[in-house]
Amino acid sequence: MTELTNLTIATALEGLKNKDFTATELTQAHIAAVESARDLNCFITETPEIALKQANEADARYNAGTALALDGIPIGMKDLFCTEGVKTTAASKILGNFVPTYESTVSQKLWNAGCTMLGKLNLDEFAMGSANTTSAFGNVINPWKPNDGSNADLVPGGSSGGSSAAVAAQLCLGATGTDTGGSIRQPAAFTGICGIKPTYGRCSRWGIVAFASSLDQAGAFARTTEDCALLLNAMCGHDPKDSTSSRQDVPDFTATLNDDLKGKKIGIPKEYRVDGMPDEIEKIWSQGMEWLKDQGAEIVDVSLPHTKYALPTYYIIAPAECSSNLARYDGVRYGLRETGDDLRDMYELTRAEGFGEEVQRRIMIGTYVLSAGYYDAYYIKAQKVRRLITEDFDKAFEQCEALLTPTAPSSAFAIGENDDDPIKMYLNDVFTVPTSMAGLPGMSVPAGLDSRGLPLGLQIICKAWDEQTVFNVARGIEKAANFTAKPQILGLSRAA
Ligand code: GLN
Repeated sequence: MTELTNLTIATALEGLKNKDFTATELTQAHIAAVESARDLNCFITETPEIALKQANEADARYNAGTALALDGIPIGMKDLFCTEGVKTTAASKILGNFVPTYESTVSQKLWNAGCTMLGKLNLDEFAMGSANTTSAFGNVINPWKPNDGSNADLVPGGSSGGSSAAVAAQLCLGATGTDTGGSIRQPAAFTGICGIKPTYGRCSRWGIVAFASSLDQAGAFARTTEDCALLLNAMCGHDPKDSTSSRQDVPDFTATLNDDLKGKKIGIPKEYRVDGMPDEIEKIWSQGMEWLKDQGAEIVDVSLPHTKYALPTYYIIAPAECSSNLARYDGVRYGLRETGDDLRDMYELTRAEGFGEEVQRRIMIGTYVLSAGYYDAYYIKAQKVRRLITEDFDKAFEQCEALLTPTAPSSAFAIGENDDDPIKMYLNDVFTVPTSMAGLPGMSVPAGLDSRGLPLGLQIICKAWDEQTVFNVARGIEKAANFTAKPQILGLSRAA
């Protein structure tokens, strides 16, 4: 059965159509993989019975010749997407027992396309983090190990660390993620897989537990660019239940995937050459430029002068929106409730007990920057800088069709390594946050290994609504990089 977990979504769909195996067999192979890799802690909730029921329905459709676009494809769902009747925790104690009575639009669309749900994937609490170490359900372990003999457990990136680790470890063929400042792209880079954050508004946010509403966007993880395109095809589209959801037509993202890159202008933003960037990151970035040049693309230098303000402004805007969004967790309407002497006491005890340290830090920062007297100095100022960041991109895209950058300033680090220094942790997002601030589509694609044998990713960024070019350029990198390395865990526990 192991080879069924080695397929891509595209090859699995072929196999299902040709009746080489059934959706039930495919799902069972993945359920077994999930069970055998519990030590990675990828899943908060496993839902094998739901997956098998969906697989059974998929098989019936294959037999009837009425198969859906992604019929029988086993996926994992980040535990930030509300799933009807299935616990949805946001990796927080405060939502520890929350069972939604409704289904998020994006997850519903994936079920409507025939996917089967293996379970709910671990994440940083309320998607706040870059290492999946802030989860109330414990950290996730990256299936990759450094080759330096240390055998250290590494982070899978965050916040969608359960998603990235599960796809890399071949526990599912694809997974959903959300990206507010990098939470799809950075974990994809840390685990050697592909991850796309589409344009803000492409995917409905309805039914996704909110972190920072003007930045949150759903997206997909998979092991190939084509698989990401297939998933995204099913996830996007206008939703009247989300006022920020776009009415733009959704093209078939696979249609132009393999188009020629001849004459495409690829911009290299000079401000992304940050101080102290490891040589290996610099090297893989140059390698990426060479690969694209070899395929006929033209490399042009561009400038995004406000890049250095992106992180500081993100860490004003995201906490501000989080403090507002998380005000609803008061012990009355959802989840955990502590008993107190009076109402106020109950609120305070519930929130002190229910939220972890990082979430509390963000709520306090957010409340501060929104408070009277500081609102103009911090929040309004940050919004103005956000506009300048967006205008930088607009100008850059007058000179080129896509930008190529590293995804993250390092490869995966050891669990616990940056935990005592929030600022150092925040620096992980230096290359991903600007795209989020401007609402643009961005994708990470695996490009190679560093000297410790750990994956490195390259990021492609395009104009709003131009995911097709994102995929096309990412596919160019994928073809040239021919990244076939696999995490060691696949050799250790599930070979044969
Ligand atoms: N790491 C960033 C943060 O902690 C981004 C998180 C995300 O994209 N959800 O806010």
